[in-house]
Amino acid sequence: MPTRIGTSLETAVRCLESGRLVAIPTETVYGLAGNALDPRVVARIFSVKGRPSFDPLIVHLSAAEEVFRYASAVPDAAQRLMEAFWPGPLTMVLPRRAVIPDIVTAGLPTAAFRVPRHPVAQALLKRLPFPLAAPSANRFARLSPTRPEHVMEQLAGKISYILDGGPTEVGVESTIVRVADDGKAAWLLRPGGIPAEAVEKVLGMPLLSPEHSHIQAPGQMKRHYSPAVPLMLVDDLAAWIGRHGIPDATAFLAFHTLPAGVVQGAVLSPSGNLEEAAARLFAVLHRFEKDDRVRRIVAEKVPETGLGRAINDRLRRAAAEPPT
Ligand code: AMP
Ligand code: MG
Repeated sequence: MPTRIGTSLETAVRCLESGRLVAIPTETVYGLAGNALDPRVVARIFSVKGRPSFDPLIVHLSAAEEVFRYASAVPDAAQRLMEAFWPGPLTMVLPRRAVIPDIVTAGLPTAAFRVPRHPVAQALLKRLPFPLAAPSANRFARLSPTRPEHVMEQLAGKISYILDGGPTEVGVESTIVRVADDGKAAWLLRPGGIPAEAVEKVLGMPLLSPEHSHIQAPGQMKRHYSPAVPLMLVDDLAAWIGRHGIPDATAFLAFHTLPAGVVQGAVLSPSGNLEEAAARLFAVLHRFEKDDRVRRIVAEKVPETGLGRAINDRLRRAAAEPPT
């Protein structure tokens, strides 16, 4: 199947209405989208990505009110988060209604919902009579796409259309939150495009970690978001180079400043801005991955605050040893 990149909303609508998959822009990363209410379409999302079926998908809605059609209960605390952050990069896990097929949620009684704010995603969702299931438009465990070309590199020949909405604005995936049914506790299932601190402020309580609780956080694989070349995560690049020198075929990824003497390298944000760093992260890793001269990446951690939590989370997963 030839894959085309274009800006035609008509084409995207036609493909999706006839049960085909389309890569779509969102403010986080490009999504591999299909009709969330059709189990056969959703099955194709899993197979095109090579994603394990126990890893549930996020359901993308056109507007916040839609959530009541698909979630069976929405605690007040969850509604406050939706008012504050939708449309935007916050995903809420809520008890689901039966219209959401089992395959979307890997059989869980809950489903993940989000209203994206990218104008193209919004326009598309408003034209469709169904919500879109959309994981990132990359092969399973590989780098997330933040530009249409990244999707083409990984999924050419497997989908018919890539809807071009330019480079994505946020650059890391959504923050995923689960609010307890009684609204008295909330868990951070994945750090992402909305800082955890901002969520806590609206909730008026700290986010809990799903570890050591009954809350299920499936699909948070240790190794994920990985470039095709090995990546090492260090606290401080200059200190690492002080000990090891600058080995051949090694590219360095710095937060704001590359140490002296480094020729193969990239800076995430010269001014040390975490939002800019998040927006550039995957594009820089894609560039290193494609560069024949790069056989190893040494990356440094960014401050563990705001969007820095999501950036460090992605770098840690990119660095995890492959499963043996
Ligand atoms: P993505 O990989 O960006 O498509 O986000 C999907 C992730 O959302 C999954 O890997 C899960 O971690 C999370 N998720 C989706 N549905 C649920 C659910 N019902 N309960 C808990 N986490 C979920
Ligand atoms: Mg993904």
